[in-house]
Amino acid sequence: MSTKLIPTIGLEIHAELLTNSKVFCGCSAEFGGTPNSRCCPGCSAFPGTLPVLNKKAVELIIKAGAVMNCEISRLTSWDRKNYFYPDLPKAYQISQLNAPACTNGCVEVGDLEVRIKQIHLEEDAGKLIHDQSPKYSLADYNRGGMCLIEIVTEPDIHSADEACAFVEKIRAMLQYADVCSGKMEQGALRCDVNISLAEENAPLGVRAEIKNLNSIRSIARAIEYEIYRQTEAINNNQPLVQETRRFNDATGETFAMRTKENAHDYRYFPDPDIPAVALTDSEIEAIFASVPEMPEKRYARYTGEYGISAHEAEILTGNKLLSDFFEAALKEYDNPKAVCAFTLTELLRRVNLGEIELEALPFSAADFGLLVKYGYTDKINRGDMKEVLREMIENGGSPESICEEKGLFISEDLSLVESVVDEVIKNNPNPVEQYRAGEQKVFGFLMGQASKELKGKATPAVIKETLERKLRG
Ligand code: ADP
Ligand code: ZN
Ligand code: MG
Repeated sequence: MSTKLIPTIGLEIHAELLTNSKVFCGCSAEFGGTPNSRCCPGCSAFPGTLPVLNKKAVELIIKAGAVMNCEISRLTSWDRKNYFYPDLPKAYQISQLNAPACTNGCVEVGDLEVRIKQIHLEEDAGKLIHDQSPKYSLADYNRGGMCLIEIVTEPDIHSADEACAFVEKIRAMLQYADVCSGKMEQGALRCDVNISLAEENAPLGVRAEIKNLNSIRSIARAIEYEIYRQTEAINNNQPLVQETRRFNDATGETFAMRTKENAHDYRYFPDPDIPAVALTDSEIEAIFASVPEMPEKRYARYTGEYGISAHEAEILTGNKLLSDFFEAALKEYDNPKAVCAFTLTELLRRVNLGEIELEALPFSAADFGLLVKYGYTDKINRGDMKEVLREMIENGGSPESICEEKGLFISEDLSLVESVVDEVIKNNPNPVEQYRAGEQKVFGFLMGQASKELKGKATPAVIKETLERKLRG
């Protein structure tokens, strides 16, 4: 009979920084591009070239440290991590071993507290393409030399759910702080999972490291598989070895890649070409001050001040683009509940249908806010809001011009309402008789007749008030 084994997980998250250029040269850091079109003698490791550190990269890693409550090193320096692999032309990666920029942080996810051991800056490697030919591999060095930070946690995580919630939180925070796009599908955020199993209160078990997981789903699946694999091994008295493994998305299994190397295998030494950076307190303070509001704080404002439900606030703040859009629309119409309702129903519905993308909406947040304002201040019927939005998506135009063109503005012509109501009363002697005799039910019918005539020209409230008054005599 087996005893209960508890999983212990530590993560190493790689995040590409939102800089314009690479970390040690001036090449573009934009995603994609024709293979090897964004390379120079520097990032291609030609002899005689020298690195120049990207200032913005230093600023962004400190921002990352700020949002993860880290201590910031006053003096931060660079080391060479030596290894040969075809995606790394220099045969060493510039990284930080001895003086990482950020240390001793902490991130809370619900009740879980995850300590951040360190965040350090390094350069990304190129990309090898193996699936074009069985005879050779291709190399694209556009990604080589891009600014990368590595966030290393202490082993404070104990399940796949916790790991996923943590990575999602880190991703949202980096997005909000404009440190990283968070686009896992573009490789801008990747995760290595270290996992071991042990009985409660026993020393930690032998760990496996699963490399390069690039979706939340594969993080969860890789962890579930490792828990299964390691449990089997322990229960069958098969020794586990410390090793690096890969996850196969197709089978959902991990497989051994190599036995784990240690720091000394990399023959780290200080990079003689890059001076250490000394930061002053005021420089660090200025970077801390530039950190914008984090999702948690927005969430609190939405549920508190705005009175939006927890569920809705979670959806809005879960995506920075959506949350920014919502806030910009509020500048036009300061009615959070109304703007939230129309955003979550109609806007997201269109996004989910693939008709529009949040990254490139065909209308402004101000126009969206204005449309909600029209609907909620009886300038147009609320039921017409959808139609106007559809027009804004399909043919463009402002809410004003569309409502004008389609005759949706409710006119405030009270004499028209009076005459239509008079007409309805004249044409329906029997229902009017019944109503006056106390039969309330027929009011709906009369209201319907008047509304049909006045569609888009008067608000229901005005029609109702006029009809009631005239029926009273
Ligand atoms: P290395 O220097 O070999 O990379 P680190 O001490 O930097 O090792 O740890 C790498 C990651 O592995 C960290 O996220 C850490 O929390 C995690 N880790 C270390 N030991 C264990 C263990 N026994 N089980 C699970 N995770 C672990
Ligand atoms: Zn370059
Ligand atoms: Mg490590």
